[in-house]
Amino acid sequence: TRRPSGVETNQHPDRRIDVVSLYPKDMNIYGDWGNVLTVMRRLSLYGYDPVLHEYNQGDPWPDHVDLILGGGGQDNGQKKITDDLFVRADTLRALAADGVPMLMICGLYQLFGEYFETVDGTRLDGIGILGAYTVGREHRMIGNLVEHSEEFGDIIGYENHSGQTFLTGGTKPLGRVDADGTGNNGTDHTEGARFGNVIGTYMHGSVLPKNPRLADGLIRIAAERRYGAFAPRQDDQQTAELRRIDDCAQHARDVAAS
Ligand code: GLN
Repeated sequence: TRRPSGVETNQHPDRRIDVVSLYPKDMNIYGDWGNVLTVMRRLSLYGYDPVLHEYNQGDPWPDHVDLILGGGGQDNGQKKITDDLFVRADTLRALAADGVPMLMICGLYQLFGEYFETVDGTRLDGIGILGAYTVGREHRMIGNLVEHSEEFGDIIGYENHSGQTFLTGGTKPLGRVDADGTGNNGTDHTEGARFGNVIGTYMHGSVLPKNPRLADGLIRIAAERRYGAFAPRQDDQQTAELRRIDDCAQHARDVAAS
């Protein structure tokens, strides 16, 4: 459990937000750790007191959870964590049903679905929080990815996966891919998944530094669930820093769109 450097403990007990990073040792490919850094930094700039819990296999589960972030991984990284993921499946399902916001990238997106059948035919069962199943193909889907989401606007990032994902039941896509990239499967123009406050996506990049609106969407839900409202409390310096960060992200977005 740690706080960002420079932040003293329990400065504002009424502003604490508990963030869980799920399997950072095994599921953290293509810079997905940047999502954790972004959420922690933005929470601090909004005047919250973020506390990070890194959860790896066999670790104790934190007492309180406001937001969960999980990254991608190679097929063998996914194989390594599935047993432990099933140990935590009921807890994760209960938190999801309770509305805890979660963002799962690529490898963990697949394992939050129903199953992932790898390209060599191994079937990895998922924990079924998202209505999505994935089948590995020889041909990898690699490259820049741009999608349009009604809730979060244009989302930009980078994809690299062998699995083709198909959505089922009441699970909706996160966005629609028109021209840039493949998305879930290359045939139905969908990208990612959303059920309740749980989001799965193939967006690496990392996605949250480039897409502040998505980052703030997760932060807002976390704050509202815990304290009844999202109530930023920032001084001029924090406001200026947020603006500077958002300008950088906008620049990356303009380049991706051009
Ligand atoms: N191993 C999975 C696949 O190739 C996920 C890859 C990833 O997380 N980038 O489909």
